[in-house]
Amino acid sequence: MEWGMKGMAEGLRGKGVIAGIAVGRIMMAGQNIDGYLKGYQPGNKDIENQKIKDAIKAVVAVLQENIKTLQAKDMVEQAAILEAHRMLAQDPMMEETMHTKVEELANAPLAVLDTAKEQAAIFEQMDDPYFRERATDIRDVGKRIAKYILGVKEPEIGDDPVILCGHEIEPSVIANIPTDKIAGVVLGQGSTTCHAVIIAKARAIPTVVGIGERLAEIPDGALVILDGERGDILVRPDEMTLADYREKIKQQEERKAYYAELAPLPAVTTDDVRVELCANIGNHMDVDAALTYGAEGVGLFRSEFVFMGRQDIPTEEDQFKAYKEAVEKCGGKICVIRTMDIGGDKPLPYLNIPPEDNPFLGYRALRISLQRRDLFLPQLKAILRAGVYGKAAIMAPMVINVAEFKKVLDFVEEAKLELSHEGKAFSENVQVGIMVETPAAAIMTPELAKYVDFFSIGTNDLVQYTLAVDRGNSSISYLYNHFNPAVLRLIQRTAQAAKDNGIWCGMCGEMASDPLAAVLLLAMGLSELSMSAPSIPRVKEKIRSVSSVQAKELLADVMKMEDGEEIKAYLQKVLA
Ligand code: PEP
Ligand code: MG
Repeated sequence: MEWGMKGMAEGLRGKGVIAGIAVGRIMMAGQNIDGYLKGYQPGNKDIENQKIKDAIKAVVAVLQENIKTLQAKDMVEQAAILEAHRMLAQDPMMEETMHTKVEELANAPLAVLDTAKEQAAIFEQMDDPYFRERATDIRDVGKRIAKYILGVKEPEIGDDPVILCGHEIEPSVIANIPTDKIAGVVLGQGSTTCHAVIIAKARAIPTVVGIGERLAEIPDGALVILDGERGDILVRPDEMTLADYREKIKQQEERKAYYAELAPLPAVTTDDVRVELCANIGNHMDVDAALTYGAEGVGLFRSEFVFMGRQDIPTEEDQFKAYKEAVEKCGGKICVIRTMDIGGDKPLPYLNIPPEDNPFLGYRALRISLQRRDLFLPQLKAILRAGVYGKAAIMAPMVINVAEFKKVLDFVEEAKLELSHEGKAFSENVQVGIMVETPAAAIMTPELAKYVDFFSIGTNDLVQYTLAVDRGNSSISYLYNHFNPAVLRLIQRTAQAAKDNGIWCGMCGEMASDPLAAVLLLAMGLSELSMSAPSIPRVKEKIRSVSSVQAKELLADVMKMEDGEEIKAYLQKVLA
């Protein structure tokens, strides 16, 4: 059904960032406190200054309580966000500015809000989207302090879950509401990397962002349907539309139940060729959910997320704790930990990397690690130590030549030596491999295969570098096709080099989650496919429906074709 086509339903479209359908009443978050401000009766300046001090103390206490709760639940990333808020609330410079403003305004909540607004404006003018989004955090903290002074209560939610809606919702608001009380989230602004979305994602709450000014068309308390995949919001849907979507929710549930039945079954072709399906994770907490989708291990732990959402470099101990948990949770199944892949679209402010014209071609990933032993050695040591608790593997990102990988091996040896001297237990059997995500690496796989324990093909970058198509630029996304013959030939070359040298070859780029591609990949001889966990059942379903003979025939046909679109259309027709 097309949105907005039936009955009274008014359709708004944003960007779906967390999939799933939700039906619920809108609850405006990011409360409007103008009314409270108008009715506020300030005291003398001393009283107003004291109110600021008391409010900061109270807000910090609540934040500390929240941080403790999140840490107890191992929600490290979310705890780090609130920790950043705590530090902002206790920033002496901010407080000093607030007191200075009391001199002018003689009104504590106004002084607090004005200070936060000024500071946020500085961040908002920065080029880097990461810093721009930190403006929300500053406003959030300011508003919290002001709300305490004004005596504003947090929103109270009844029995039914709500759809939280606001131009920007403070991460603390979402973090403080129990998951079963939030059916969905709608943001006027926002992106996949804003903190409100990061918190919602960890809880799989369907979310739509980027509605913009049209947010004003969504009344508080209105019943809406939210489609987190397509980005649709249907305001006050009619009965017929509601019935349609309730049917979709039912199908969603049935599909989930069917996939749950598939979870324990192997990904095996009708003639017994087995492929290992693993999960891509950004956090040790993601492993449990991945296993429920039937993941047979972790094919890519994006360790840079252990470095992000915090104020400083995580220590060897911090990292060891995170990796050990992931490895342990994998229970003897492989857990491939990719070394830090910072740079490109993943900035890390505390590394102070100067802005670059071409960050995807710049100082990033392994290039940073090889120059920063203070970062690389503790990370390698932490992974080697985690290896004692299961089957860990080290994977280097963005490799372009053999020399770089030899340096990685030298670092691994040095890390082992240091651990031996320090008397710390570590595993000698941690495999060391590379991501094949640059055309240079793919072309050099026959040589690289002599040194590595495995290849894992990173198509997200391999496609962008091979085709010279920015992976994040929507205006040229029609060119970004993993079936492009140039890409397929590099993948086939990599698989062949692995086979010739007796090492395993997998894939951890998004291409692995495309069931049509999976058939070609198994025919090329890839033994492992790693993807975001919810994609595992679809891929498994497809693999279990074909024979390896059929897959090889398809591969032979496809490799004769000249055009990526033609290949895609052919596979869609044959494998539908
Ligand atoms: C890739 O490039 O395919 C990949 C898996 O890494 P990332 O998406 O983190 O760059
Ligand atoms: Mg990559």
